[in-house]
Amino acid sequence: MSSRDPFASYTWKSDIFSCESNDISTFYACLKEQVTRLGLLERTLGDAGRYPLNLYQSPAQKSGQPSLLISAGFHGEEAAGPWGMLHFLNELEPELFQRINLSLLPLVNPTGFKRGHRFNKLGQNPNRGFLVENGRGKSNDDTSAEGKILLEHSQLLQAASKEGILTCHEDVLQNDTYIYSFEANQTPGHFSRTLRDTLGEFFPIAPDGFIDDCPVADGIIFNHFDLSFEAFLVRLGANVGVCSETPGKQNFDQRVLANSAIMQTFIEQVIARQ
Ligand SMILES: [Zn+2]
Repeated sequence: MSSRDPFASYTWKSDIFSCESNDISTFYACLKEQVTRLGLLERTLGDAGRYPLNLYQSPAQKSGQPSLLISAGFHGEEAAGPWGMLHFLNELEPELFQRINLSLLPLVNPTGFKRGHRFNKLGQNPNRGFLVENGRGKSNDDTSAEGKILLEHSQLLQAASKEGILTCHEDVLQNDTYIYSFEANQTPGHFSRTLRDTLGEFFPIAPDGFIDDCPVADGIIFNHFDLSFEAFLVRLGANVGVCSETPGKQNFDQRVLANSAIMQTFIEQVIARQ
């Protein structure tokens, strides 16, 4: 039985970005370049340690377009999510904003990212303690500092994820890939299977069984409602939700490319559902 050590440090070298995976100053510098190029609006939701917890949104959000939220970097050792978002942004053309309202949380747990460890520097898990009460966000004793900031903006995040939430995680214990997905169905539909298959182009898909006590079938853990951020937004009404899990035992740059690819597929699939 293996489990994740919240303070074990994991770092990798990226040849794509020519730096270490926990190089936070390079990360923020590259992000700033893309935010400027794409004209994204920056909104500081609060402070996570000495770093701002920023939400970025496509300019001039339109009421007739689907609203999608993509988040990454909840767990500090899952570094290919944030770098994958940078890779995705590098390839993005601003014309896409004529079709969707895009919101991004590129790095929710900067203090964990910098140390290469799972929890934040206060020893809290940023992806727990997201409760819903009377249609509003509510914290509990497990809610992290970052989680409280996100909960304070639950109406904004609810609107931003109305047509879908994708959150990019990694599993450092795995050689195989899998997803958590949420759809208003009894079984995973085309949407879930297509997102799984995108990761399957990069890595073997996890065999059927249990991961973290959740049943995995065909690489999908389906409609598993816990107190995570993604389950929270689905409870608040997001049409679909996906939490991607790339395998931390595989090559780092491959994981970056897989994260970038699933962001692209997620957007295409949500547009196709409209
Ligand atoms: Zn995670």
